[in-house]
Amino acid sequence: MDISYGVNAFCTRLAPSPTGALHLGNARTFLINWAMARRAGWRIVMRLEDLDGPRIKHDADRAALDTLAWLGLDWDDGPYYQRADLTRYHAALDQLAAAGEIYRCTCTRSQIESAQSAPHADAHELRYPGTCRTPRGTTTKYEADDNDIAWRVHADDATIRFQDDFAGDQSHNVQQTVGDFVVASKAGLPAYQLAVVVDDAAQGVTHIVRGDDLLTSTARQIMLYRKLGLGPEPRYCHLPLVLGPDGRRLAKRHGDTRIGYYRGRSVPPEKIVGLLAEWCGLGHRRPMSAVEFADEFDLNKLPHGPVTFTDDDDAWLQN
Ligand code: GLU
Ligand code: ZN
Repeated sequence: MDISYGVNAFCTRLAPSPTGALHLGNARTFLINWAMARRAGWRIVMRLEDLDGPRIKHDADRAALDTLAWLGLDWDDGPYYQRADLTRYHAALDQLAAAGEIYRCTCTRSQIESAQSAPHADAHELRYPGTCRTPRGTTTKYEADDNDIAWRVHADDATIRFQDDFAGDQSHNVQQTVGDFVVASKAGLPAYQLAVVVDDAAQGVTHIVRGDDLLTSTARQIMLYRKLGLGPEPRYCHLPLVLGPDGRRLAKRHGDTRIGYYRGRSVPPEKIVGLLAEWCGLGHRRPMSAVEFADEFDLNKLPHGPVTFTDDDDAWLQN
């Protein structure tokens, strides 16, 4: 892959998961990522994160690309599909196995749940108690086709610190929060945490801009960068997610907020960008192109508090 493209060696990526349609909330994150890249001259890689087996929806990849282009976003490289070539992930897993950093896990979710000593803050993110752990340094061989076996990495019981360009100083202890985490799933596919690190390193990504739902994943990813001897580690910028009127993360329960829905009702992309611009602190909503948005965008103006989508926003878009 050519990593010398562009005016400098900096690079970011737009990494949609083809698991559903883009809505106003994730469109805001992509628009900001794109604008920061265009202002700073970072190369933009388009990567479709299509490893999440059961959640992948047919044609959602094409729809995501089409929607982003319709909003006025473009990219310099790709699209690359993670599933198109698993060899680089397998090489990373081989490396971790040879170093005695990963082990096989046969636990079911309910076994992990019943081993919890206290209810966890995030129900999706149970702390793994280490049931199947072998001593660190026990070398093994990674097998991709071992059904019903997941692979976990030894998570260091240490604080990982990083300076997030929007969220500020971060410190996370992966062992205390999630424990040894999955790097390859029972379906024989590399897990998101591993795949994203392998790709960010291979594609020369230096700047990661994404939703702050991934803030707690970042320490895991930095840990994998270090265990795999990859680098330099990227800079991170985690942005707050857009909320619905009930204060919960914008989702289907808030009605149809998909970009495709508004497009189907002849709402022009400039109106959508204009609303997103107001949500970025760029003044009262008014139609604008993605290029105008990039000209005006300023991370310092981005609200740190929650941004809420209201019926009034919906009415403005549709009138
Ligand atoms: N594919 C992920 C998503 O759409 C983003 C992963 C990342 O930015 O690291 O939520
Ligand atoms: Zn286990």
